[in-house]
Amino acid sequence: MRLVEDQKITRSVPGFAERVAQESGQPIEACYQCGKCTAGCPLASVMDMKPNQVIRAVQLGLEDTVLDCNAVWHCSGCETCFSRCPRNIDMSRVNKALARLCIIEGRKPRDPAVATFHKAFLESMGRWGRAHEVEVLSLTKLREASQRLKDIRLGAVLFEKGRLGLLPSWVRKSRDVRRILADSEARARTTQETEP
Ligand code: SF4
Ligand code: SF4
Repeated sequence: MRLVEDQKITRSVPGFAERVAQESGQPIEACYQCGKCTAGCPLASVMDMKPNQVIRAVQLGLEDTVLDCNAVWHCSGCETCFSRCPRNIDMSRVNKALARLCIIEGRKPRDPAVATFHKAFLESMGRWGRAHEVEVLSLTKLREASQRLKDIRLGAVLFEKGRLGLLPSWVRKSRDVRRILADSEARARTTQETEP
């Protein structure tokens, strides 16, 4: 099916809603658009599609629309939406599943800096068992030209107040964290290879 959206023609992909429901483990079809998730979302103002719009677009199978929106990358996973949803839908899991699909399909994230941050975060977790903030920020700034001069003053204040440690701290079982990350990467690769 083809739908007109913001004067663009967009595809409705059969089976997309079921795929997202399976990936996220959330009852996508149960959403009845009450809007409580959006009303409580602390990041709704910076999202190009609000949480209730994302889920509606998923229900309608608008794959290109949701996989190209920035909301998927801007979701902080705070779960305020989940605590308010009368249908027990956890939008943070839906957004994570959409971000995963975006990567699996080799799409360019709408906000590349956020995707770069995610990657740096996981790399740091793999190295130390927990994220080392200075390393995550340095890698992100090195890899994303648009971020290089951003928040320098804020960084200096945090450093001055001792909130940014130069040396990493690591967890005793960091090897287990590495194994979990490697397993999930292997699972994502398998999914990618078996996707039609
Ligand atoms: S709060 Fe739940 S039911 Fe209401 S719009 Fe959001 S996801 Fe749908
Ligand atoms: S989990 Fe994501 S979508 Fe839900 S309230 Fe938090 S930022 Fe918004």
